[in-house]
Amino acid sequence: MSVRPRDHCLAERMLINDERDERMNEKMNAPLAEVDPLISEAIDNEVRRQADGLELIASENFVSEAVLEAMGSVFTNKYAEGYPKKRYYGGCEWTDVVEQAAIDRAKELFGADHANVQPHSGAQANMAVYMAAIAYGDQILGMNLSHGGHLTHGHPLNFSGLSYKVADYGVSRETEQIDYDELQRIAEETKPKLIICGASAYPRTIDFERIGEIAREVGARMFADIAHIAGPVVAKLHPSPVPHADYVTTTTHKTLRGPRGGLILCKEEHAKEIDRKLFPGVQGGPLVHIIAAKAVAFGEALTEEFKEYQHRILKNAKALASALQESGLRIVSGGTDNHLMLVDVFMGGKGITGKVAEKALESAHITVNKNTIPFDTNSPFTASGIRLGTPALTTRGMGEAEMREIGSLIAAIIYDPESEEVRGQVQRAVAELAARFPLYPKRWKRREQQEAASAD
Ligand SMILES: *Cc1c(COP(=O)(O)O)cnc(C)c1O
Repeated sequence: MSVRPRDHCLAERMLINDERDERMNEKMNAPLAEVDPLISEAIDNEVRRQADGLELIASENFVSEAVLEAMGSVFTNKYAEGYPKKRYYGGCEWTDVVEQAAIDRAKELFGADHANVQPHSGAQANMAVYMAAIAYGDQILGMNLSHGGHLTHGHPLNFSGLSYKVADYGVSRETEQIDYDELQRIAEETKPKLIICGASAYPRTIDFERIGEIAREVGARMFADIAHIAGPVVAKLHPSPVPHADYVTTTTHKTLRGPRGGLILCKEEHAKEIDRKLFPGVQGGPLVHIIAAKAVAFGEALTEEFKEYQHRILKNAKALASALQESGLRIVSGGTDNHLMLVDVFMGGKGITGKVAEKALESAHITVNKNTIPFDTNSPFTASGIRLGTPALTTRGMGEAEMREIGSLIAAIIYDPESEEVRGQVQRAVAELAARFPLYPKRWKRREQQEAASAD
């Protein structure tokens, strides 16, 4: 039987469509290096940068391959507005498994009544707390940014400073530690509805119990933001705010060593309001792939190894601070109780600015950030200090001996930021240290194989 022209045409068209589908599928399944060389190369170079240098930014860390794998999963495709078992979308059965696991593990980690694991970042976690706790225009009391507080604790350019009346407390000139009597006096005078504590650049133990007492005395709710010290809190190396605070937030990517994101913990009485303010108040759909990675990181944080890791971070911070002090540099408040320290590099004008120190160290492959110190005479943009933290280097396996060596390398640069000879010596020492403590070796192998293949 002969094929009629119309059918013939249709058959041909179907064939063309099949080919097109096949080509599209090929694209869908091709490796990144083929699809987008620019981005692929930038990622490879970032792997190399992270592995080759010394990372001392106190808010950074290196996640495990398992956390990276969860972050790169197909959960990025899923819409899941709502919470486990109460979703606005279908197909959420596996999403519910990962979000419920993340919630249960977070509650266990911190001994909290309630956990919301959806905040995209620390700032958004904090925004939800403000919206749940107080009304626009209410009085708040937070820690002065230049004494260690965070932007979201009332900075004039941040939503917190734009939406609420802000009073602030800080550290005393003598001890450079939080002045709790002064905090109490300001609280009594300004009668805030919410007291915020926790910091981004404060190296000492925070007395959450005392702040909780002050909050109750003046009729304020208490909000502890432990973005930096969540790891030490989990390992019981820093007192927990959970028994004293109405709300606790943290990032998940600093000492907690999870994916970039936020977490809210609260007492049961505030649970419903927190969930409603985070979604639909602040956010739309959750990042389910990131929640999956949070669950993995929380699982890691529940182990003994993680507690041991937090111990080593703190021992390393003390060793680094001592080494810097021995080389003549002033450490703000005289030392550290946690994972970070502030180094006064300006030394009342005898030294260099934080900005110059940051750049000079960067050129020697040591990454830090400039930071104001309490009662700084320089602007935040130049600053008199640098902030150093040990979580990332400790993840690489470095210990106290390496911290002493790194302390003297940092001091050498700060005392002679323009010497090319010093820079060269430090660069070689950094390369040697980095090689002894490899980072993401599997990713290096993959890169080397790709380079070998393309050289053939
Ligand atoms: C890092 C930090 C945050 C904000 O985290 P992002 O994820 O960058 O929004 C909030 N509070 C404190 C105290 C921090 O140190």
